[in-house]
Amino acid sequence: MGHTRHIFITGGVVSSLGKGITAASIALLLKQRGYRIAIQKVDPYLNVDPGTMSPYQHGEVYVTDDGAETDLDLGHYERFSGVTCSRKSNFTAGRVYRDVIGRERKGEYLGKTVQVIPHITDEIKNSIRSLWDDDVDIAITEMGGTAGDIESLPFLEAIRQLGQEVGKRGCMFVHLTLVPYLSASGELKTKPTQQSAGVLRGIGIIPDMMICRTEHPLEEEHFQKISLFCNVPRTHVVEERDVRHSIYEVPIELAEQKVDCLILEHFGLEEGRLDLGGWKSMVRTAIFPEGDEVEIAVVGKYTSLSDAYKSIYEALRHGAIANDCSLKVRRVEAEEIQESGGGAEALLAGADGILIPGGFGYRGIEGKIEAARYARESGTPFLGICLGMQCAVIETARSVAGLSDANSTEFDSNTSSPVIALMDEQKNVVNKGGTMRLGAYPCCLSPGSAARSAYREQDQIRERHRHRFEINNDFRDALAGAGIAFSGLSPDGKLVEIIERPDHPWFVACQFHPEFRSRPLGPHPLFSAFIAAAGRR
Ligand code: GLN
Repeated sequence: MGHTRHIFITGGVVSSLGKGITAASIALLLKQRGYRIAIQKVDPYLNVDPGTMSPYQHGEVYVTDDGAETDLDLGHYERFSGVTCSRKSNFTAGRVYRDVIGRERKGEYLGKTVQVIPHITDEIKNSIRSLWDDDVDIAITEMGGTAGDIESLPFLEAIRQLGQEVGKRGCMFVHLTLVPYLSASGELKTKPTQQSAGVLRGIGIIPDMMICRTEHPLEEEHFQKISLFCNVPRTHVVEERDVRHSIYEVPIELAEQKVDCLILEHFGLEEGRLDLGGWKSMVRTAIFPEGDEVEIAVVGKYTSLSDAYKSIYEALRHGAIANDCSLKVRRVEAEEIQESGGGAEALLAGADGILIPGGFGYRGIEGKIEAARYARESGTPFLGICLGMQCAVIETARSVAGLSDANSTEFDSNTSSPVIALMDEQKNVVNKGGTMRLGAYPCCLSPGSAARSAYREQDQIRERHRHRFEINNDFRDALAGAGIAFSGLSPDGKLVEIIERPDHPWFVACQFHPEFRSRPLGPHPLFSAFIAAAGRR
């Protein structure tokens, strides 16, 4: 134990610089040089986890195998590096304070005054040290927020202390900043970067590497200025330009700048050999596919917000990579389907496939149900995910099984046909945070089904869940009579995990979230099969 080295990635000047993608890219490069990596995101806000936050605030909530509701950056980490994240991979100020205050209430501080320093900072350090393991050579911790935020201070103080404890060779501080371009004067400006490094210096952190996000190439004078004012060797000032086609180009760009070599040199570790062959050929396929374009309509309620369905869009891209075709996504607001006089046809006609993602709450539901009807009747390939599956079930119950007021009890507690209902284990749940059915559970696939064929004839799979409601078993017979096949069940047979329509070219819907397990180098079987079916239209 204790041989794990640390990389801390901080951000400066503005948020949304792509710290998560940079951290994920570094993880990939180090892994492809033969090192064992752990990766973690620290969020300085007071929610205990992002599970209760609106997608408008926070984008998608990413779910790990072990059932943690986490920041969407973990999706980048898993997709880029192939490393499996866990509960340890994301913690917030809220969780840190909750644990410290919980111990204070138990009297564990033995009469001491409980303070930000050392108690909060110690708890932060412990959560970072939780990544220490004989199996981990390098732990990467991305610090959420921006240097200079008040709420980030205890976190920066904690990593400063940790850096002191593990020594220079055990820890590397990487600062990611923006070098803005002023089009009026046609200049790149390094001053914000200098100031941001100055803020860190005031806290006692001198970056070992500066990664400069920029739209335009830096000139030598910019590198020199940043080196001089930020106290970082010229060799360790690195440019990260906006990539042109795909975020999956970022690791290639960072490798060209030898970021991985500089990191390993800092730690005194062997360079090894970088194997990016598979990654590069995947990026080539993503950018220059041979096949035709496939257009997928995503019917949701946060369609203007790409972060809300991040993993869905990525998984669709992976499905396109698997089929060597290009992908066009048509984002359709479910509420517009409700409001448009022409119904779903008006907004969905011409799409090669229709996907309804997960979600919560009544807004847009009737539009999603209408989209499921259109997919069923028009023979358009359909993938329903979680709430998307529930909408498809409600639609079939209403239109085919003749249960005209069928609904989920999430939306209508008085329906006479509650085809979707609260899971038994949820009935006494009071708190909203972390209490859904979360994480990976096994599912058995029925022989001869489209689902099983997509999964290459596996008997059993494991997928990640995040839901409170489920198909009500009292209605299984009615739904089967209306043409639905239950092609994936929990091993005890009690929970329906996948449904499909054998009378349709490709109509599959699942209670779990396959998008969380899709990787560019390992496209998810359901997304690959869905895009393949859409390509046959
Ligand atoms: N709101 C639904 C449920 O709780 C669906 C959840 C989801 O789509 N993630 O079951």
